[in-house]
Order: sequence, then C-alpha cells, then structure tokens
Amino acid sequence: MDELDKIKNQVVSCTLCNLCKNRINAVPGRGSHDAKVIFVGEAPGRFEDIKGEPFVGPAGKKLDEALRQAGFDKNSVYITNVVKCRPPNNRVPHIVEVESCHDYLDKEISLIKPTIVCILGNTAYGSLLGGANISKNRGKIIERNGVLYFLTYHPAAVIYNKNLFEVLKKDLDKLRETVTHLKNGKVVKPDIEITS
Ligand code: URA
Repeated sequence: MDELDKIKNQVVSCTLCNLCKNRINAVPGRGSHDAKVIFVGEAPGRFEDIKGEPFVGPAGKKLDEALRQAGFDKNSVYITNVVKCRPPNNRVPHIVEVESCHDYLDKEISLIKPTIVCILGNTAYGSLLGGANISKNRGKIIERNGVLYFLTYHPAAVIYNKNLFEVLKKDLDKLRETVTHLKNGKVVKPDIEITS
C-alpha cells in the first residue's frame, strides 16, 4: 500500500468533523498517483456520497466532457475535493470542515507532486490560495511556495450556462497547453504568464 492509499483509508474512516455523522461514504480523491495535474473541487454532492467517488454526478459529467474536449486523459489525472464528506443540502463547507480536511489535501498534493494543481471554483481557491473571486481570476497561473496553480470555474457553475461551459473548456485548453510547456516548474513559452 503506498502513502496515498493510506490517506484514502484515513479519509474513509475520518471522524474529524461533524460531516462524518450524516455521510453515506467519505469521498477520497481518485486517479493516477503519477498525475501531472490534480483537479480540486469543493465537496462531494449526493451522487458522490452514494458512490464514494468524486465528480460522478451532473457536475462530474460536465468536468468529464470539458476534460475530454480539452484532450485530457481522465485516467492520467487525479481528481479530489477540499472537503471529503458531503455537507447537508450541498451547502458551502464551513471553515472548520475545510480545516479538518486540509491535511488530507495537502498530503495528496505533496505526495503526487503534480506539475500543476487546477483549482475548480471559489471554495478551492479560498482554501488553497486564500482567494475569493474566481470569475475575475480564472485562466491565471499562480505560483505559491513552489507549487503552480491554475484557476478556473467549478463545473457545477457551468451546468445551466452554455457560455460558461465554453469558458471552462477554453481554460482547460490553456491548462493542457501550459502542462506541455512546463519544465522544472518554469513555463518555457513566453506568452504563458505566471502570477506570484
Ligand atoms: N462538486 C464538487 O465540488 N465535487 C464533487 O465531487 C462533486 C460535485
């Protein structure tokens, strides 16, 4: 069993916050342990709670579609959430819940050492970078403590808005292009800019 599998086991039996009381399943990350890109969403919804896997409901279908159209192989990325248990009625996770789960996310990132972490929406933006306005900052690449982050919309935000879906796809195109032009944490293409 590798270290990531150990984290998964800890997540599955976690009781660090009250979300454990009403869950059907905790939802650890899934995907390649050698992923170049980690996608980070907010928290599991109803379908994820039932299945114990991230992004398997309607938002997941949108993410799958955007990934496919942008040329990502779903099996070679890693997909996870800030919070690993479903909040009641899919409300935004409380700070104490985000903090309880923070170590799991930190370890997922430090064990996989991806080329870049793709932040999906404001909860992940707030949790990982202290940011708050994804609409304003989407499409940006940010370097923080030696880790690169790419910002884009949460796939749930694009479900009823076709225009936003196009933006998500465009962002993921840029992300894929960026990944192919990164060497040792540096972008080797002049028109791709990193913000600090
Ligand atoms: N929304 C999320 O943020 N994560 C999931 O896994 C599903 C929906």
